[in-house]
Amino acid sequence: MSPNHTQDKPQRNFAFELNLQYTLFFILSASILFYVAYKNIYDYVKVRDEQALKQRLLEYKDWYEGGGIQRLNQRFCAASSLEQESFFIRIVDEKMNILFHSDPNLFTNSAPSQVTSNTNLKSSQRPREAWIFIEDRLADGRRIQVGKSVNDSVRLLLQMRNVFILTMAGSALLVFSGGAYMTRRALQPIRRMTEIAQNIISTGNLDDRVPSHKRRDELDNLAHLFNTMLDRNQSLIRGMREALDNVAHDLRTPMTRLRASMETGLQSSGEDIQKMKEALADGMEESDRVLTILKVLMDVSEAEAGMLKLHKSVFNAKVLLLRVMDLYEFVAEDAKIQLKTESLFDLQIHADQTRLGQVLVNLVDNAIKYTEPGGTVSIGMENTPEHLAFFVADDGIGISPSEQTKIWQRLYRCDTSRSQKGLGLGLCIVRAVVEAHGGTVKLESELGKGSQFTLLLPHSALPASGS
Ligand code: ADP
Repeated sequence: MSPNHTQDKPQRNFAFELNLQYTLFFILSASILFYVAYKNIYDYVKVRDEQALKQRLLEYKDWYEGGGIQRLNQRFCAASSLEQESFFIRIVDEKMNILFHSDPNLFTNSAPSQVTSNTNLKSSQRPREAWIFIEDRLADGRRIQVGKSVNDSVRLLLQMRNVFILTMAGSALLVFSGGAYMTRRALQPIRRMTEIAQNIISTGNLDDRVPSHKRRDELDNLAHLFNTMLDRNQSLIRGMREALDNVAHDLRTPMTRLRASMETGLQSSGEDIQKMKEALADGMEESDRVLTILKVLMDVSEAEAGMLKLHKSVFNAKVLLLRVMDLYEFVAEDAKIQLKTESLFDLQIHADQTRLGQVLVNLVDNAIKYTEPGGTVSIGMENTPEHLAFFVADDGIGISPSEQTKIWQRLYRCDTSRSQKGLGLGLCIVRAVVEAHGGTVKLESELGKGSQFTLLLPHSALPASGS
C-alpha cells in the first residue's frame, strides 16, 4: 500500500497558528488594558481642563463686572505673565462683533459664532493649536468667550499612544518569537512521532523511538505511550514471525509424512488392501497431529488475546486430580515411573473443570516425559491463607535457569527434550488458562534434580466468593 502523499506534508502549520493566535490574544488583552488606562487618563485630563476653564470664566466675569473691558484686560495681562497655562478671552456683542480679545493672533480659526458653551478637547487637528472654549452671557447682554490651550494634555495623550504602539510592537515581536521557540520545543515529540510513523509506513522499520525528556508532562507521557505501543507491536510482530516459522517447521514433518503415506497407498497394487489400509491409518495419524497443532495454536492465540472462554462450575478439586492420576496410571507404569499423590483433600472450587483438567494433564504428561525410568511424579494440593495451590512435581531432568523463562513461549522446547515428542505449546496453554482464572504458575526447577510446577489460584476461586 503506497502512503498517501497528500497527507505526508501538513498543509497548515499548527505551531505557527497556535503562536499567531497566542500573539493576537496578547495584543488584544494588552490593547484592552491600554484602552482602559488611556480612557481614564483622558477623562481625568478633560475634567481637569474643563474645571480650570470654568473657574477662569467666573474669575474673568468678576473682573469684567467690576471694571469693564479695561479692568479685565489689565488683570488678565498681569495674571498671564505669571502663568504657565495659556488662556484667551474674547468679548462679543449680541451681533457677534468682537469688542475685545486678549490676543488676536490666537484663536484665529474659530469665529465667535462657532464657540459654544460646550467644551471640547478635540478642537484642533494640529496639537499646537489645541484649545477648548466656553462661553457665557454677561450682565450687560454681551458674551464672554474663554479659551484654554490644551496642548499639554493633547501632547501627553499623544505620547501615551505612541509609547503604547512602540511597546506593543516590541512586545508582540518578543511574544511571537518566544512563543515560536516554546511551541517548537513543546511540539518536538510530536514531530518525532510523525517522522517515526512515516518511517514505519514507508519502510516497516519499528526500531526508532521518541526520546524521553523526563519532563513527566502530557507530551512526555504521550511519547512514552507511543514508545510502549511500538515495543508491544514489535514484540507481537516478532512473536508472530517466530510462531509462523515454528509452525511452518512443525507442520513440515507431519505434512511430509502424510504425503509419503499417500504415495505408499497409491503405489500399492489394487489387491494389497492391507498396505493401503496401513497407509491410510498413517495418514490419519499425521493429519490428527496437524489438526492438534492448529487447535492448540488457536487456543493459545485466544488465551493470549484474553478471549479464552471459561465455563465455570463448582466441583471437587480432589476428584479432578484423582481422575488425571487414573488417566496417566498406565502411561506412568509403561515409563516405569511411580505416580503418587500428596495431601489430597476434598475442596470445592468454582472454575472451568475441563480447562483445569487440561492444565493438569499437560503438567503430568510433561513430568512423565521428562523423568527417567525409576523416577517419581507426585501430584497434590494445598489451601494456604494466600491462595489455593495445585502442584505437579518430578525428580526428572530439570530445567536450566536460563530456560526457565523461555519454556512459556509458544513452540519453545528445551534442547534436552528434543528427543521427546511434543509441540512446545503445553506450558503456553497452562499459563494462559491459569491467568484466565486470575492465578499464576510458579516453577521451581534444578537441572538434573527435577521440577515442580505449582498453580496458584486466588481464594475467589472458592464457591462462596466465586461468581
Ligand atoms: P512440550 O510439548 O515440548 O512438552 P511444553 O510447552 O509442555 O512443550 O514444554 C516446553 C518445554 O519445557 C519442554 O520442551 C521441556 O523442555 C520443558 N519442560 C516442561 N516440563 C518439564 C519438566 N517437568 N521437566 C523438564 N523440562 C520440562
